[in-house]
Amino acid sequence: MPVLAQFMAALRAGAIEVVDLTAPLSPQTPVIQLPEPFGNTSPFSLTEISRYDERGPAWYWNNITTGEHTGTHFDAPVHWATGRDGLDVSQVPPAHLIAPAVVLDFSAQAAGDPDFLLEVEHIKAWEAEHGPLPDRGWLLYRTGWDARSGSQREFLNADEAGPHTPGVSPDCARWLALESPLLGFGVETVGTDAGAAHSFDPPFPCHAALLGAGKYGLTQLQNLSRLPATGSVVIAGPLPILAGSGSPCRALALVERA
Ligand code: MN
Repeated sequence: MPVLAQFMAALRAGAIEVVDLTAPLSPQTPVIQLPEPFGNTSPFSLTEISRYDERGPAWYWNNITTGEHTGTHFDAPVHWATGRDGLDVSQVPPAHLIAPAVVLDFSAQAAGDPDFLLEVEHIKAWEAEHGPLPDRGWLLYRTGWDARSGSQREFLNADEAGPHTPGVSPDCARWLALESPLLGFGVETVGTDAGAAHSFDPPFPCHAALLGAGKYGLTQLQNLSRLPATGSVVIAGPLPILAGSGSPCRALALVERA
């Protein structure tokens, strides 16, 4: 049987499960909040054009308002100053949008310390157990943060010192960007960097290093708990916004079930 026919047969027989990693988009979807004097992103909203009424008797449709970085979204290299000469979101090769993934689960650590940072040693220890990170694949960083996504306040977890959400140390960010074979890094939090990363050296090291190296980010993922540590495939579908820095994104995972 041709390989795509085998694939469809497995999908329909339930031997391959499709897990939706995408957060629902609504005005309640959490968005990042930058302090003055920085600009901020729009939350998601719908503006009705017609709904089976005099404006359109047989049809319902809306305009949408959204930031490129609202909800589950894809960061293109050009999003960061270090990647300014890199790809915009429309230029990401379609073949990069289907890639193998691994899940590293640090939800227990993040539950105890919301400022928990992933270090290279954590990844090396994981590799000793599970094997190498996937070539041209995603590292999906599970922190349990998706459980907070119903509330902007809990999701951003800010106090007077700023937000407290888990992330990556500057050394680990450089390692992911320059030493690892990864295509990109995916998180459950509002961005790929820690909440406190504005105070790191360099600030926002995950954005700076990964996007500067031509790699990608995926944020506000859900349901990583339903993925195996290894062996899943992620399909990420950002919109091809010309010159765009990123895009809201449907992220799906394919998981083989025995
Ligand atoms: Mn982003």
